[in-house]
Parts: sequence; structure tokens; C-alpha cells
Amino acid sequence: MQEKILYGNVGSQLAMELEEKYGAHNYHPLPVVIAKGKGAKVWDPEGKEYYDFLSAYSAVNQGHCHPKIINALIDQAKILTLTSRAFFNNKLGEYEKFLTQFFGYDMVLPMNTGAEAVETAMKISRKWGYEKKGIASNKATIVFAEGNFHGRTLAVISASTDPVCRENFGPFLPGIEKIPYNDPHSLEMILQKKGEEICAFVVEPIQGEAGVFVPDEDYIKKCYEICKKYNVLFVADEVQTGIARTGRMLCCDYAGIKPDIVILGKAISGGVLPVSAVLANQEIMLVIKPGEHGSTFGGFPLACTVAQAALEVIKEENLTENAEKLGEIFRAELKKIDSPLIETVRGKGLLNAIVIKPQNNIGAWEVCLKLKENGLLAKPTHQHIIRFAPPLVITEEQLMEAIAIIKKTILNIL
Ligand SMILES: *Cc1c(COP(=O)(O)O)cnc(C)c1O
Repeated sequence: MQEKILYGNVGSQLAMELEEKYGAHNYHPLPVVIAKGKGAKVWDPEGKEYYDFLSAYSAVNQGHCHPKIINALIDQAKILTLTSRAFFNNKLGEYEKFLTQFFGYDMVLPMNTGAEAVETAMKISRKWGYEKKGIASNKATIVFAEGNFHGRTLAVISASTDPVCRENFGPFLPGIEKIPYNDPHSLEMILQKKGEEICAFVVEPIQGEAGVFVPDEDYIKKCYEICKKYNVLFVADEVQTGIARTGRMLCCDYAGIKPDIVILGKAISGGVLPVSAVLANQEIMLVIKPGEHGSTFGGFPLACTVAQAALEVIKEENLTENAEKLGEIFRAELKKIDSPLIETVRGKGLLNAIVIKPQNNIGAWEVCLKLKENGLLAKPTHQHIIRFAPPLVITEEQLMEAIAIIKKTILNIL
């Protein structure tokens, strides 16, 4: 019997068939269709309710369809959406002032997606390398950490070590070196050897896509100090870890350091528009001159208005504090689950993961399918890891309900 459709006019089965038939197969989604979202919850077309424990890879930290952000979107959309940067607009400057003061930097270069912002940071770093550090022409090198995820463009996958991201996409961008993550010594070694040609070290303070890999407590600080010693820019990719997700406004705040360049995306718009940003101080940012970099949509009035509202929500609703507090509870509760399926529980704030040790043909994918049936959405990353990252507006009561679903699922699946 056909179930009644409550949201939209396409049911789950048809929605999946349409994507399969008419869309490129560049994703392998969990078989669930989302038709509506509110706060920490989403619903499928037939009205089944789920906790969203992915939050669009931490883009909806403020919760789905946050009323303040949506109202900002609607109000601004009626007045002005896009001007291009050929002209000034009355929203960009105000937003840039707000954003730079919010994060404590002199200047911002606004872009749209995370990968674009990473590319922008790479371009700024190279230019800084030539014009400020005096690197010989075409020799500038950027160091990345193995296991990274910085996006999908060609420059960015040139820095990847994941074979799935790279196979048959070569040739890759030169001027890139890769060192092991969570190993400051290897950074010191490469800077000692090739420091004169190295302009930047780009790193995620926690590797999200790699499976919420949390490095040693002093890793970021040590790397920052090594970069300073060799006059190399320390660039933090906070696209996933930033904006309150880990229980600090930026994850690098835990290390007590201020990166030379910070890359932001995802939650900067609360999941409403693709908005990204590169933050730096003047002596770095001003190496980029008019005409040398840009994007038609970068810094468009609608994005500026939405992003400002989205960041205000983070402060007004104390989402940083909520992420820290609920993260502690979440990990403590998950660690209590006594199941051979759980190898490790790890994370910071509300960016968490469990590493699954497969038993009787039950692995991370099967656990996620069962979680879905029981009303909670999460997705495996790298086969055996399940990331749990709910919207930061989740309440303690909702979190306890979600934990009960996870417990029940894991204890009953074997
Ligand atoms: C998601 C992500 C990106 C890429 O962002 P897109 O908007 O998908 O291009 C870059 N860096 C990190 C750490 C991310 O998690």
C-alpha cells in the first residue's frame, strides 16, 4: 500500500529513483529522503521523524531552518541578492567588519564553497611566499597533512592522500608536500630541509572526514611554533571544526594560537547558502591586488546578510557552550555501551565518532541503516567509522533521547 505523502509531492521511493536515474552517481547516500527540517530534526516525505546526526557535515550547526536566519534571507531577498563585485554593495562592508571583529582578524576574502576558500588560501600563501618571504619564482611549496579532506577541486585533491579522491584525475598540482598528521617532528624535518621554498602548512585541527581524528593536545601549538620558526604561514582549515562545533568558536582556540590564515565555510551560513571565507591580517591579505582573484557570487549581499544572522545565532544561543557541555555527556554515555561492535569513541564538543569493529557481517553501514530505522541519521566515513555531529541547538533532553536510540540499536543489532 502506498503511504500517504505529507511533505512535498514526491514520495521517498520515487525521489530515490529520480536521483539514481537523472543525477550523476558521485554519492552513495543512505536510503532515506529528507523533505523537511526543523532544529535538530528532519522528516521524510511520509512524515517519519529523525534526529539529524550529520548536520550536513556540520553546515547546520544552528539547526535546520533557523527562524532568524530564514527571516534574514527572506527580507534581504526581496531587496537585493547579487550585484557582482564590479560595484560596491551596501551589505558587504558591514558584514566584513562584523566577521573580522567576530574572529579577530583584520580582513576577509569572501568566497562560496569550502574548497574555493581552501584554493584561495593556497593562492594567498603562494603569493605571500614570493612577495614577502622571497621564494624563488615558481618554487613555492605548501605542506599538507596525510589523511586530510579539504574539498574536491583539482588543486585541493592534489593535496589529498585518499586514492578514491584521486584515481584517474591526474596530473596533479605541483608544489605540494605531504607529511603524517599528528606528527610535529615530520613538519620540523621538512621545514628544516626545504623551508626556504615552503610558504604554508595547511591543517585541520581535527580531521573530520578522515573519521574525526583528534590529534594530541599539543599538536596544533607545536606545529604553529615550528611554522613561526621557519617563517611559514600556519593555515587552519576550520570549515568543519569551526563555528562552535568542537566547543570553541574555532577549534584552534583550544591550542591558544591564532592561525595566520583561517578558512571557514559550512556553518557560516547556517546551512542556508554556500558561503565561505578566508581570514587573515593585512600584511598577508593585501598581497592580493584588484583583478587577481575573485568570484561572481563571493560576498553577495544575500550571503552577507544570511551569514551575519547565522553567526549572531551562535553567540545569542550560546551554541559554543552547548556543544562543549553536551559533547562531554555524549561521549561519556557512548563509552558506557558494552558491545564488541564499539572499538573507540572519540571527538571534541559535538564532533564525535565511534569506530566500529565489524562482527557477524555487521559493520558501520549496517549500523547506520538500523539507526535510520530507529529514527536517527548518521553516515559512515571510511568504512568503519560513524560520525555523530548533531546540530548544536540540540537540547540535553533531545540528546538523551538520541543516545537511547544509539544504545538500543547497537545492543540489539548483533
Ligand atoms: C567540507 C570541507 C571542505 C570543503 O567544503 P565544500 O563546501 O564541500 O567545498 C573543506 N575542508 C574541510 C575541513 C571540510 O570539512
